[in-house]
Amino acid sequence: MQIELASVPPFYKNGYVVACEETGEAVIIDPGDEVDELLRVVRATASDVKAILLTHAHLDHITGVGRAKAELGVPIWLHRDDLFLYDGIVEQGLMFGLEVSRQPPVDCFYEPGIAFRFGRYVAEPLHTPGHCPGGVCLAIGRTDEDRRELFVGDTLFAGSIGRTDLPGGSQEQLLRSIVDVLLRFPDDTVVHPGHGPDTTIGRERATNPFLIHV
Ligand SMILES: [Zn+2]
Ligand SMILES: [Zn+2]
Repeated sequence: MQIELASVPPFYKNGYVVACEETGEAVIIDPGDEVDELLRVVRATASDVKAILLTHAHLDHITGVGRAKAELGVPIWLHRDDLFLYDGIVEQGLMFGLEVSRQPPVDCFYEPGIAFRFGRYVAEPLHTPGHCPGGVCLAIGRTDEDRRELFVGDTLFAGSIGRTDLPGGSQEQLLRSIVDVLLRFPDDTVVHPGHGPDTTIGRERATNPFLIHV
């Protein structure tokens, strides 16, 4: 699995290009303000991007969707329960004092059991509400192996969890999502959060202060 990460101010949100090293087929995850860097990576590696996969629709995760869509012409995927946030991007910007543009319409909604094949890999969206209603984590790994890496958006961070004070957030629900969905993965599972450094399920299970009492 080839993983390229880009992150720029003001949100330092991690955008990812994840590609199959054998075929060059790829997905883009959460293109935001760093979208030009992600598209540069796509061009430099001649990756064949198949989809724009969104973990959720907070503005820092979607401001680059339009640029990515215009260049790549591939479908935009989101969980239906975050459509109100996606459609409300201009209003979200006002909350942060930022002027942001509307993004092109979402093409498809995640459904239970749906998965994306790219090359020898599969990306499985797992609904993990709590940070926002339509939050998903993407479990990505080779089709011929059980091992997965988790692209968790703002659900879980190294040493922390996502904020729950924005519209539709719930800490109780977020903790349940983390315990029921993410902590089921083995301890050596690598976690790629939407902000900050990578971690593992084992490290968070053992040391994350929000997960000690759940
Ligand atoms: Zn968020
Ligand atoms: Zn974020």
